[in-house]
Amino acid sequence: MLTALAPSTAEAAAPVMPALPDSLLDRMRPLIARDLAPHVGKIDQEGIYPEAALRSFGAAGAFAAHTGAVPDLNAAIAAMSLAGEHCLSTAFCMWCQDALGWYLAQSDNPAPRAALLDAVAAGRRLGGTGLSNPMKCFFGIEPLKLRAKRVEGGYEVSGGLPWVSNLGENHLFGAVFEMADDPAHRVMAIIDCSREDIVLRQATHFLGLEGTRTVAVTFRKAFIPDSMVIADPVEGFIKRIRAGFILLQAGMAFGLIEGCIRLMRGCEKGLGHINKYLPEQPGHFEEALAALRETVQGLAATPFETDPGYWRAVIESRLAAGEWSLKAAQAAMLHAGASGYIQGAPAQRRMRESYFVAIVTPATKQLRKMLADIDGK
Ligand SMILES: Cc1cc2nc3c(=O)[nH]c(=O)nc-3n(C[C@H](O)[C@H](O)[C@H](O)COP(=O)(O)OP(=O)(O)OC[C@H]3O[C@@H](n4cnc5c(N)ncnc54)[C@H](O)[C@@H]3O)c2cc1C
Repeated sequence: MLTALAPSTAEAAAPVMPALPDSLLDRMRPLIARDLAPHVGKIDQEGIYPEAALRSFGAAGAFAAHTGAVPDLNAAIAAMSLAGEHCLSTAFCMWCQDALGWYLAQSDNPAPRAALLDAVAAGRRLGGTGLSNPMKCFFGIEPLKLRAKRVEGGYEVSGGLPWVSNLGENHLFGAVFEMADDPAHRVMAIIDCSREDIVLRQATHFLGLEGTRTVAVTFRKAFIPDSMVIADPVEGFIKRIRAGFILLQAGMAFGLIEGCIRLMRGCEKGLGHINKYLPEQPGHFEEALAALRETVQGLAATPFETDPGYWRAVIESRLAAGEWSLKAAQAAMLHAGASGYIQGAPAQRRMRESYFVAIVTPATKQLRKMLADIDGK
């Protein structure tokens, strides 16, 4: 049952477009201009869920590239970044969808992949990921919030997750639960929000990212059939997907930083004579963004690498993505001046959005703990 969820922009059926991987970004541009750019203010201020954009991006192939036999994470990141230049809510929803597809594509159990992957990769079924809590649990920050007992044909799961995004009545998301009689035994599954024993509730309003359909999810002794199990036990699976999970988030940061650079450049004509005294200029961010893109591009080419140095580089790149997002948004505010401080101005929206890149799991503080743990500090 769903109560008081954010409205949707998707009144019309999504167009069906041929999926040609080499021209994904070319196909995305007109869709962004039509389905996203005109709605960015409403998504932020009224919490409108950008469903039409997500569906059309899915039909264009934005959620498919990283789910094939040879996963192309860089294509997924580039598509997310293009949307993120306009709107972080939408880029985050795209990441949620990408993470869901990533879990299905990598599933230890072929059943959920066979049943759901095509629809998720094409954006016909939307959804996300409730892995913030497990990602904190696996790195020693908090206990798991979901408990299960074994029943005939599956699991009965109880508990709740405070915030899961990109959800709706017919949506899906990945979750991890532990066995009540053996907490060290953890299982991951895909959860179908259409079940009556899965209750979604819009419990909170946020500073930004209001259009992401972020809801509290309660599992009321929810039955999760074996056919929806992704990994049992979950540990090896998490090790396999964790680099991709983190690297895909770079698309949010790249888009946000690019959007902030554009805002700074847009101020040059009228305010360049005074903005030139600011220590951080758009060129500074263009250089940093190019370097970050190059690093992530290299790392995302080999998401299953097991070398500890690789994992460390993934964590460092994610930390840098969050920190550069904050810096770029602050600089955009300073360049825009009072015009950026007006309600509805893009600069203040980008500033609010930038904090999300730094606090969504793995948050800056978690990333710093992970590095400290690696260094034995
Ligand atoms: C807009 C938005 C969307 C999100 N979408 C998702 C998602 O799709 N999937 C997902 O798994 N996580 C989601 N999260 C959670 C997010 O990834 C982080 O876990 C969260 O921002 C807290 O991370 P932290 O490391 O700073 O923990 P801290 O802020 O240090 O919090 C510690 C713990 O307390 C919980 N907590 C803190 N405040 C509250 C509160 N008011 N109510 C309930 N619990 C609270 C946190 O969830 C966390 O488990 C979302 C958060 C936000 C703000």
